[in-house]
This record gives sequence, C-alpha cells and structure tokens, in this order.
Amino acid sequence: MNAVGELADLIREAAGNTVAFTGAGVSVPSGIRGFRGRNGVFADTFRGYRVEELFGIDLFDSDPSLFYAWAKDFVYAVDAYRPNAVHNVLAGLGLRGLLNAVVTQNIDRLHTVAGSPTVYEIHGSPEWHRCRRCGRAYAYAEVRPTAHAGKVPHCACGGVLKPDIVFYGEALPERVLQDALKACMMADLCLVLGSSLTVYPAASLPEEAYRCGARIVVVNDTPTPLDRRALLHFSDLTDTFVTLGELLDIPR
Ligand SMILES: [Zn+2]
Repeated sequence: MNAVGELADLIREAAGNTVAFTGAGVSVPSGIRGFRGRNGVFADTFRGYRVEELFGIDLFDSDPSLFYAWAKDFVYAVDAYRPNAVHNVLAGLGLRGLLNAVVTQNIDRLHTVAGSPTVYEIHGSPEWHRCRRCGRAYAYAEVRPTAHAGKVPHCACGGVLKPDIVFYGEALPERVLQDALKACMMADLCLVLGSSLTVYPAASLPEEAYRCGARIVVVNDTPTPLDRRALLHFSDLTDTFVTLGELLDIPR
C-alpha cells in the first residue's frame, strides 16, 4: 500500500474525529499567492508601504483609502478563483462525516465555496464587513462593487467599513478560536496542510491537537516544527489530495 493509502486508513480509523488545519499553501494551486515568505504578498510594496503594513489597524483607521486602493486586486478579486482538489476533497470528507472541521488561516473563503460544512476562519474573512463607527455588518456582496473599484466603502451612518479580516493590532475572533481549539483538542487525527506553522497563535492549534493525543499528518512543501511528530509526511498537496480523493471515492 502506498503512503496515501495509509493516510486514507488513518482518516477512516479516526471515524470523523479528524481536523484539517490549513494555510496559504492550499490556495496556491488555485492561483492565489501566499502572504508570507520571500515571494509572498506581504513583501510587495504599495505607495511606499509594505503590504504587510496596510494590514495594521492603526494605519487603516488613519487612512483606509490606502488599504482599499491596494485590496481591490487581491481581497476583492478572489471571486475569480475556484477551489482546487484540496478544498474539494476536504469538503467531500466533511460531507461524508469523515472530517469534523477545517481550521484555516486563509481569508479567501475557498473552503466555504467548496462546500465544507464546518470552517473556522481564525484570521477572519471578508465575508462580512463592519462599520468602524456603529458596528453595523455588511455582506461581501454589498461591499464588493465599491471595494473592487478601489474606493472606501461606507456605512449608512457615514462610518468606514472594515473587512472582518484580523488586522495586526486586533485580537483573533474569540468564539471562533475557542471552537477551533476545542475541535483540535478532541481530534484523533490532525492534518496540517499548506502551512509552515510559523504564525502564532494560529500554529499553536495543531500543537495542541498533538499534545492532546491526536495523530499528525503534514502535507507541506517546506519544513514545519511538527514534522518530527508526524506519522506521515507529504510535500505535494495536489498529488496527495487527488490520490486521496480517488481512494476514498470523493469527487474533486
Ligand atoms: Zn455605521
């Protein structure tokens, strides 16, 4: 039996008590650039700022036009991207009762688009926007036309709308983080996918799963701190999930 066959067995044995922890790597086959690393989006510059700085809450509050002028071609263009085999097979696992939850660092909503029933977006997402003045929430579809034109979307009260993406200087969404932590602590199997586990506190979730007794499987093309603890390790996400989908008879 090949190694992906062993992975399929581990998933079956866990009988639904599996959690997938995903990072930017799972969206790369969809054509979405990662944030970190030498070729990451954060390293780009825009009007004299590093893109990473545009995700600072203080800069956003002092001049939101900078963020929106940049975000039109990234955050507000992700509708153009489709889920890939990794998103689709994870969604299939969830729908078949073989995956308890997806915990993701990604903000591109592709796990939800693919149909995963339970997704914890620990860094938030642009699915909702909130008024910085009165707190009123607006759906992505309402905000997108303005934001995709590079303009600052405003609330009916005149306040500036900010996407529910976690910016630097903001706390992670407490409830989501607690639910994700609970799923990780209860998991028998934790799949670490497309993340090098360097961003905290997000990276502490699979560590917590391991500490609480979960088996670990890593699929990532760079080393992670959990590699030594992993029962199985793969480097190519697409190859692994295409094969996994075939073995478990899940459409991709
Ligand atoms: Zn408002």
